Parts: sequence; structure tokens; C-alpha cells
Amino acid sequence: MKIRVVKEKCAGHARCWAQSPEIYDLDDEGYILDHDIDVPEGQERAAWLGAKSCPERALVIEDYKKDSAA
Ligand code: SF4
Repeated sequence: MKIRVVKEKCAGHARCWAQSPEIYDLDDEGYILDHDIDVPEGQERAAWLGAKSCPERALVIEDYKKDSAA
């Protein structure tokens, strides 16, 4: 699972980080760091929740297979 970061949409609400601090890194001003995120196995749900909590839709979920056995 990957999270694509659309940096220019980020408005610095820090909601992603508040939801899932283990997944989302912010800079000193509360903006998401400008790189895509490879979500470690087992943290897909936390990543998904964090992405969904972004009001700017700056976090795009990719390669998420809910029923993936891998
Ligand atoms: S919730 Fe969205 S807008 Fe807020 S810091 Fe995270 S990516 Fe940026």
C-alpha cells in the first residue's frame, strides 16, 4: 500500500498526524513532508484512517487491497 502525497494541497491541519503519527511525518510548521509513503505491513488501517482524515484530500491511497492476503 502506498500513500501519494499531493504536497501543494496540504494546508497544515495536521489531522493526518493526529490520527496516525506513526505513518505521517510533518515539518516544523505542520505540513506533510513531500514524498510518497510506503506503508509498512500491518499499518494499512492506520494509514487509511489518516488519509481519510485529511480535509484537503492531499493524501491519495494507492494499491490498497482490502482483502489482500499478501
Ligand atoms: S491532514 Fe492533510 S492538510 Fe493536514 S497536514 Fe495532513 S496532509 Fe496536510
